[in-house]
Formats: sequence, structure tokens, C-alpha cells
Amino acid sequence: MQKQTTLKEITSCVGIGLHSGRRVELTLKPAPADSGIVFRRVDLPDMPDMPDMDDMADMPDRDIPATMEHLSHINHATCLARDNVRIETVEHLLAAFRALGVDNVIVELDGAEVPIMDGSAAAFIYLIHEAGIRKLTMPRSVIKLKSPISVTDGGRFVAAYPSDKFKVSYTINFAHPLLRHQEYSTEINETSFIEEIAPARTFGFLKDVELMRQRGLALGGSLDNAVVLGETGVLNNPLRFPDEFVRHKILDLLGDLVLLGKPLQAHVVAMRAGHELHTRLVKAILETPDSWELVTEPTLAPFAPKVAQPLLARTSR
Ligand SMILES: [Zn+2]
Repeated sequence: MQKQTTLKEITSCVGIGLHSGRRVELTLKPAPADSGIVFRRVDLPDMPDMPDMDDMADMPDRDIPATMEHLSHINHATCLARDNVRIETVEHLLAAFRALGVDNVIVELDGAEVPIMDGSAAAFIYLIHEAGIRKLTMPRSVIKLKSPISVTDGGRFVAAYPSDKFKVSYTINFAHPLLRHQEYSTEINETSFIEEIAPARTFGFLKDVELMRQRGLALGGSLDNAVVLGETGVLNNPLRFPDEFVRHKILDLLGDLVLLGKPLQAHVVAMRAGHELHTRLVKAILETPDSWELVTEPTLAPFAPKVAQPLLARTSR
């Protein structure tokens, strides 16, 4: 039976918020079994709720669990909120937790946005590996899909199909010479995530950047943390992969699926989707409990950290 995990140590880093442009410190802390992924705004006072204010009476106002219930809005990124407290751009960090098998963690931030780092999830993998992963005694349960669920919006869709693996297939096509058609399909485990998905950076179109800045967005955006597409090509070559764009969409999707609250065992297929459709799929899955079951012994590939294998091999000799 797979066990839940948390981090071994506290670890932190500093970066800037993509939209706010402000410096923000991110600290990851171990958390007990069944507490899940919880964001905490340490720049806000530690005031417990009045017992009758909401159903999480013991949870301080500044804590926001990474669940669908706390999805606030989509602003070119996925944003969580609880009462008046918000956290923006959570998806790349959430994707790294899921792919590396971190079930329980407290994410402290001294601002309203997860730092963008280099626009990918690479820095978060480094942080999680630095902290180390510790097994807890409680079993991990997984949402195993039994029948297909889909959400559509014109020619865009996201669908989840029953599968004995966790797999994602994504297709994009934009009206841009470099992005007419890209597709990528992979089974998600720690190795495939680190090698194929996590390094893929956020991307945007130069023509949109000015509009976003007028709305007070992307103030921290630069060629250091996003791939920017001009009329005919990329402003900041080289790309990390020729199909970096579609790989980044998979990274976003993996992060958004974390809002299910449990790992998903399914084949998720997305066509020209984005955060809005990704989170609509999460909502649809949660609203149709007949279409899945919670299992504690899934046939998913184990989430055990890759680094543990050589250590085990060494001690057994
Ligand atoms: Zn993204």
C-alpha cells in the first residue's frame, strides 16, 4: 500500500511574482498526514477564524488549502482565495508536488503570488529534492476514474478516461507560425515529469504583453521567466524543446488537477484548453462521484523518489 508523504526538512527560496513584479519568499514546511497542500500568507496576521465564520473553524484566515473549493479566478494563471486572502499563480508549484509525490506540505509566502522563478517548475523540483521526502504511516488514496468525463467549449475540450496509468495527451494550435499544431503525450511519473515537462516555460505573445501591463499584469514578466513570441518567431531563443509550448500546457494541467485534493488515475486528453477548462474538468469530476472510486492500492507507478533507489541498492549489498 502506498503511504502518504511530506517533506523531511524546511526549505525556501526567493523570486518575483510574474504579475505583481514584487519580491516574494517561498518556504516549504512538512505537514501531517491528511492535511494536504496548504498555502499560508505569512505577511498577514495569524488570526484564527471566529467559530461561526466558516466550516474550517480551526484554520487561521491566512491559510488556503489547495482545493477546488478555494479556486478564486483565472487570471492567465490559477488563483486561490479564502475570504479576503488570495494566492496567485499556484499551478507550477502544485504540479511539482503531485509529480514528485508530496501529499502534505505547508507553503508559506510573504506575498500574494508564488514566485515565477524561470517560468517553469525546475526550481521547485530542486527545492523539493533539497528538502527530501518523508513517508508517513497513513495510506495514500487516489481517485480512480471508472467512466469518462469531459468538458467542452466550442472546439476546445478536456476529457478524462479510465486508465491503469496516469497519462496526459495535449494538443494546441494557435494562429502563430510556430504554434499551428503541437501535440504531446506522456505517462506522468517523477522521471517523465523532471525530464519532459518541468523544464517547459510559461509563454506569451508580445502583442498581449502590453495589454496585460495596462491591466497591471505581467509586471514581473521578462525574457528571463517567459518565452515571448513575436510576429514570426521567439524573441528569446533557444527553446528548451521544439515543442516547449505544449509541454508547458501539460505542466499547467497537472497543477490544476491537484485541486481535486487527491492524485488522479486517468488518461486526461486536452485540446486547445487552458486553466479555465482544466478547472472545469476538476469541478465535473468532483460533482460526479459515481464516475470514480477512491482506492488506496492503485496500479499507478509508485511515487517513490528516484534518489532512493541507488541508496537502497547500496545498503543491500
Ligand atoms: Zn503555466
